[in-house]
Amino acid sequence: MSSSRRNFIQTCSLAGISTILPWSAYGKPTEELSERYKRLDEALVKPVLLLQDFKSPVIIESVDLLRFKESFICRVRSKEGAEGICICNNDQMLSLYAFFVHRVAPFFIGKDALMLEQLIEEVYVHESNYKFQSPALWLPVATLEFAVLDLLGKIAQKPIWALLGALERKSVHVYRATNYRGLSAESSIEKIKNVVAETDAKAVKFKIGGRMSQNRDFPADRTEKLIPLMRETFGNEMVIYADSNGSYDVSEAVRIGRLLEEYNIAFYEEPVPFDWYQETKEVKRNLRIPVAGGEQEGSLRNFRWLIAENALDVLQPDLFYFGGMVRSMKVARMASALGKVCTPHISGNGVGYLYMLHFVAACPNAGPFHEFKGFSKDLPLEAPEEVTSTIKGEVQVPKGSGLGVNLDKDFLAKHTVIKP
Ligand SMILES: [Mg+2]
Repeated sequence: MSSSRRNFIQTCSLAGISTILPWSAYGKPTEELSERYKRLDEALVKPVLLLQDFKSPVIIESVDLLRFKESFICRVRSKEGAEGICICNNDQMLSLYAFFVHRVAPFFIGKDALMLEQLIEEVYVHESNYKFQSPALWLPVATLEFAVLDLLGKIAQKPIWALLGALERKSVHVYRATNYRGLSAESSIEKIKNVVAETDAKAVKFKIGGRMSQNRDFPADRTEKLIPLMRETFGNEMVIYADSNGSYDVSEAVRIGRLLEEYNIAFYEEPVPFDWYQETKEVKRNLRIPVAGGEQEGSLRNFRWLIAENALDVLQPDLFYFGGMVRSMKVARMASALGKVCTPHISGNGVGYLYMLHFVAACPNAGPFHEFKGFSKDLPLEAPEEVTSTIKGEVQVPKGSGLGVNLDKDFLAKHTVIKP
């Protein structure tokens, strides 16, 4: 993305000016479709990882998944004794650890970590793992990838972001994600005010509709009261995003979208169910507000369609659910090829934002604000304070080797290896 375009998007958003961007900022839909696909395919073939500093293979000797109660840690060790970890997405790993131990971990043992990009493509086909394409496959792969990137970063004495690209930003502006469905519009606003105040964020996301609810609101009439109330409460300077979690069909999504436009909401996430691809495109075609999506997506090919067909403006691969930094960077690069932005979705028990910081640090077309769901209160982290606290809605990118954050050794020692 050119710096002028990036500056334009950031200026609009930071100023609270309508982020309903002209077509020129999001790629021209009138461009020949075949030309658009060609540009995406050119973006897809370029390698992501920068591993030129490594002079000899880094053979993965062991891959272990460790567990203590409902806490999971992935640990990889190289033949030379270097170690990397991933702090897992516990909520999902609780259901997926058997898949990790049986179908993902063994594939990587004995392989060269420097071949990571190729190995991620191969593990998809290995033992027909592609039959599980969804977070069931990609979250375990992302877990492995994050641990390997931590390992490689520690060996190279570089942060993970430096293995992904040049440093694009030293700090990341966050938007505070909130979810108070089920409460009245008035009660929701009080809760949202409190969490925004905690981080002093300059952007916030709120939930509308009822979540995959076939047009039902939760409670009834909440959304149409809450949209104007959000703008009235936070004023014109605040950047406000709305997420419907697939609540609507096309006509209702467009009707609600027009209300969001009226109140200058900066993007509209998942207006229809996530796998209603054609309908997502139809909603976008009928609205000026940027449409966001992709957090449930497991297929690189589907992202290619969504981008080429101009069904989305803001691409949101989830770093865990979509299989890690390499695959998500490929989505960002495709988005960039057509002038769109990438704002990754964040999951992962209060530490998901650490992985987001590395990704966004090296992502040229990252959006102006990134998802943040609060700091982890439960995990004992050994980390510089600037990466575990926000100052005026901004978090510093880690500078240390690998993830740049360590787990308390005593806490780690409580975990035991899960046997296959
Ligand atoms: Mg969402």
